[in-house]
Amino acid sequence: MSKSSIVVGGGIIGLLSAYRLAQAGFSVDLFDPHIAKGATYAAAGMLAPGGEITSGEQSQYLVQLKSTPSWELLSREIKELCNEKIQIHKVGTLLVGWDSSDKRLVQQHLELATEFKARVSHVDHDAHPQMFEFISPRISEGILLSDDAWVDPDQVISSLLSALSHLSVVVHHESVHEVVSSKSGVEVRSDSRTHTATVGIIATGSSAVPAGIKASGENVLRPVRGMTVRMQGFDRSTLPMVRAFVRGRKIYLVSRPGGYNVIGASSDESGTPAIEAGELQRLLRDALEVFPALETAEVVETRIGLRPASPDHEPFFEELVTPNWAWSSGHYRHGVTLAPLASLQALEFANERTR
Ligand SMILES: Cc1cc2nc3c(=O)[nH]c(=O)nc-3n(C[C@H](O)[C@H](O)[C@H](O)COP(=O)(O)OP(=O)(O)OC[C@H]3O[C@@H](n4cnc5c(N)ncnc54)[C@H](O)[C@@H]3O)c2cc1C
Repeated sequence: MSKSSIVVGGGIIGLLSAYRLAQAGFSVDLFDPHIAKGATYAAAGMLAPGGEITSGEQSQYLVQLKSTPSWELLSREIKELCNEKIQIHKVGTLLVGWDSSDKRLVQQHLELATEFKARVSHVDHDAHPQMFEFISPRISEGILLSDDAWVDPDQVISSLLSALSHLSVVVHHESVHEVVSSKSGVEVRSDSRTHTATVGIIATGSSAVPAGIKASGENVLRPVRGMTVRMQGFDRSTLPMVRAFVRGRKIYLVSRPGGYNVIGASSDESGTPAIEAGELQRLLRDALEVFPALETAEVVETRIGLRPASPDHEPFFEELVTPNWAWSSGHYRHGVTLAPLASLQALEFANERTR
């Protein structure tokens, strides 16, 4: 059977799925009117199984733990293919608390991380002064989650697009309105064309699936809005990322070489991608308390995205009722982390359908 495929949606999940399919010898047509301008655009790029540890989610933690090796493998492949480098910054996460109840939350995280057998240790300013650089003197201790890393999603997208071009993936800057399917293959109708292939992957993030797609109904999505603020200031790029509890709220800072800092993230149950003044004010207030040195930093931009969340916050890969189509979504706060693993599911599905 012909190895041809269609990918609908060019966020991190669709782009990586397209890459994996093309690398395995599939012809790929990818459709998206606004490549990587969905949730992927707002993401900080943390690969942070340790920082993301949540009670009752040990299996998710173990899956996320595989993310850094899978990104390293991808990085090597892409370097070989087109000499583009995806850099993985293995710096860990420093988790700190602002007041005494925030410090209790850090202690609880330490206990949970220990239970999950994560690589975690208590650190303080006296023994590791550099680790606390640019952090308020009020904070003098925390915990270090050593397995965490980050990638720059903008750099990843640029390298991936170059890799897709090397692999002759055809990128259509168009929206897919309707999907048609038969036992022998798949067909999409976009703004200007009808296109056919053997298998199709839907990777439209939090957006509704195109008309004509029939799903089991087991997987439903809700958008969870999130914002990151980007500020040009100090450079902590060789030091751990920082997460902080501030009066029960969470913030993080990912510092890139040259002093471009990504501060995140807001989280509210909204499907409207708007930056609200109150949310921005709270994020900046908490960030300035933890990092007083940001006082004079330049606000470069704010980015907003809608995280695709399933009811149990687990990602899914559903083989759809519509023949030869699968739906990959629900990656919620972890789409960058999990994208290489999601791309393998897409390949496995396509291989099985073209056998
Ligand atoms: C503020 C914020 C910070 C985050 N930080 C992190 C982080 O540090 N680490 C991490 O792992 N994850 C993070 N995430 C989560 C991560 O960004 C998402 O899980 C991930 O981007 C989801 O990827 P996706 O490809 O499924 O969706 P998206 O990136 O939203 O992509 C979906 C794409 O589908 C396209 N599309 C929709 N409908 C159609 C159609 N009919 N036809 C064609 N194309 C269509 C859209 O244009 C869009 O480009 C963050 C998210 C937010 C909002």
